[in-house]
Amino acid sequence: MVSHIVGYPRMGPKRELKFALESFWDGKSSAEDLQKVSADLRKSIWKQMSDAGIKFIPSNTFSYYDQVLDTTAMLGAVPPRYGWNGGEIGFDVFFSMARGNASVPAMEMTKWFDTNYHFIVPELGPEVSFTYASHKAVNEYKEAKSLGVDTVPVLVGPVSYLLLSKPAKGVEKSFSLLSLLDKILPVYKEVISELKAAGASWIQLDEPTLVMDLDSHKLKAFTEAYSALESTLSGLNVLVETYFADIPAEAFKTLTSLKGVTAFGLDFVRGTKTLDLVKSEFPKDKYLFAGVVDGRNIWANDLASSLSTLESLEGIVGKDKLVVSTSCSLLHTAVDLVNETKLDDEIKSWLAFAAQKVVEVNALGKALAGQKDEQFFSANAAAQASRKSSPRVNNEAVQKAAAGLKGSEHRRATNVSARLDAQQKKLNLPILPTTTIGSFPQTIELRRVRREYKAKKITEEEYIKAIKEEIKKVVELQEELDIDVLVHGEPERNDMVEYFGEQLSGFAFTVNGWVQSYGSRCVKPPIIYGDVSRPKPMTVYWSSAAQSMTSRPMKGMLTGPVTILNWSFVRNDQPRFETCYQIALAIKDEVEDLEKAGINVIQIDEAALREGLPLRKSEQAFYLEWAVHSFRITNIGVQDTTQIHTHMCYSNFNDIIHSIIDMDADVITIENSRSDEKLLSVFREGVKYGAGIGPGVYDIHSPRIPSTEEIADRINKMLAVLEKNILWVNPDCGLKTRKYPEVKPALQAMVAAAKTLRTQL
Ligand code: GLN
Ligand code: ZN
Repeated sequence: MVSHIVGYPRMGPKRELKFALESFWDGKSSAEDLQKVSADLRKSIWKQMSDAGIKFIPSNTFSYYDQVLDTTAMLGAVPPRYGWNGGEIGFDVFFSMARGNASVPAMEMTKWFDTNYHFIVPELGPEVSFTYASHKAVNEYKEAKSLGVDTVPVLVGPVSYLLLSKPAKGVEKSFSLLSLLDKILPVYKEVISELKAAGASWIQLDEPTLVMDLDSHKLKAFTEAYSALESTLSGLNVLVETYFADIPAEAFKTLTSLKGVTAFGLDFVRGTKTLDLVKSEFPKDKYLFAGVVDGRNIWANDLASSLSTLESLEGIVGKDKLVVSTSCSLLHTAVDLVNETKLDDEIKSWLAFAAQKVVEVNALGKALAGQKDEQFFSANAAAQASRKSSPRVNNEAVQKAAAGLKGSEHRRATNVSARLDAQQKKLNLPILPTTTIGSFPQTIELRRVRREYKAKKITEEEYIKAIKEEIKKVVELQEELDIDVLVHGEPERNDMVEYFGEQLSGFAFTVNGWVQSYGSRCVKPPIIYGDVSRPKPMTVYWSSAAQSMTSRPMKGMLTGPVTILNWSFVRNDQPRFETCYQIALAIKDEVEDLEKAGINVIQIDEAALREGLPLRKSEQAFYLEWAVHSFRITNIGVQDTTQIHTHMCYSNFNDIIHSIIDMDADVITIENSRSDEKLLSVFREGVKYGAGIGPGVYDIHSPRIPSTEEIADRINKMLAVLEKNILWVNPDCGLKTRKYPEVKPALQAMVAAAKTLRTQL
């Protein structure tokens, strides 16, 4: 029975690690307390896998923060500003790199491929001297062994490590990070030798960058690295693990020719072409670790279908060379369905979280070995069938409406400049109009009101009264500040996706379905299980109430379809775009209802549009096409005089600027203040932008209060590349994480800057 798990969530079924970390960081508990919680978690995970019957159980997939940072520690590649003086790296230096400390900021964090997990980016240069400075991998291997579990230690592979790094400050941008291979390999050799000495017979090296579009120079680095490691690896079984997509043909050749490697891990879920690739060629006498159980989603595996894939693979690689595995680390899914007390049994029967996926992998392994658990398989088949035919999943009217959208363009009939003219007649805004992105500070009191209403501790009447009072406060404040286009402040919303998901049909919510986002931070994505529709208006009540409190334009505030999609667990029984179109239609109805209620400005946030961009260039155009189309669908029904805004939380969109223009919004507000140059360079390079644009003028992620002068300075920089009649003045993003004593003076400075500049234009 050959079964393998690529990696497992660290947080624990009830986020035990999160709470232990945060209490340690707050000085409320000791390092020993944190170590104890962590050791208990590791122990229970190993035990659970070994009880389930898994043969290849990973170790070193636990981390106090992030596996890439663990590798940086292993290599002793600590940036000098953290004052490390050699020796084994402890919590002090480790957490300073991860989170910064009183005197130095943290290292940069970025998204791990196309997941919502973020890793700490190594900062490297020619001066870095690498030394073996964290024995974590070996210690965890030994720890498991002492518990009676012989594990497969997992390391981030040397080439992926370098490819995911960036040149340190002061190092030339053109510095070749791969030139450091010779320097890091000696440390890898030390680690591998120690693992061998400790008794490891298998080792797993994760090289997920192999699924990217790599040039031949980068591919050559893999060949060289593994040749250099060959003698150290000898005597070990070596698995090189890839995930998140299929491997391009060239890279597949490189991978399967690596010296010293005996096994290859491939993603058969996202890698839709992986099966064909393996069918066309697979090296003799090597192991295939076939990732058929999805590590990125929460759906129960279709065991019959996986089994048939596995059986055809068996014919190619041989019976004793096939290992059943997960498509990637289970880090990206929720932990254990057992703790879901609010989901009904039917929906639960369609789901599998990490703990259940371990059981699925094992069941598939046993079935391949001729010990099929008939009962388990038939229960699974019944659940698959019920999901397929359930009326909760299928809504024929919605399916028809969404199907009718394909192939057509859906654009507003009038072009953007004519629309802006029509809107200006109605709105009569000054030049450089000021606005905010939507949310205002979420006070403890506000959270309490929402919580108590949810728990039925206060009546609906009391709840409405409290929320309306809050809206009134926010409206009055904005009038006092003399902001031009107001917002209601979003006091009724806990989360910009959950708020809508809770009111749409086709969505389910978990109580413990947390997934690590970065460090101790977790997100709890909604589950889209069925066709999406909108039983009734979702925001009209609050937006009209807010509009009735002011004579200034009040922005209606919605989350866009692509963002709702990208921040949810999405059904896997139809293409993502189909689900996205369905959500777009629901939002379209909401947009039109807002318009009918007299709301003339409507913002449809697409904070996560870029996040869904596929890893491989060849797939990006298609994604952008349907994503942008979905956005346009939401507002094709409005009059020219209704102004559609959108908002995005990043500024690195140089590569997708044409898609953003193609969204055809009237006004876009974007995060900008931490990277003026990146954004403005797009327009300096000659991209013509005709719609309204509001690059954020100050950073809302920091408690710092900007001065009028520095904001005016920023706006002036924008005016150098953008027409004055399209420029808006607004903060970077929503204000919900800030406090009123920060928000008031910051907005005051913002309005003052806009007013000063108006007199000069
Ligand atoms: N309207 C939302 C808010 O202000 C937008 C949040 C976001 O872009 N992440 O909070
Ligand atoms: Zn934002």
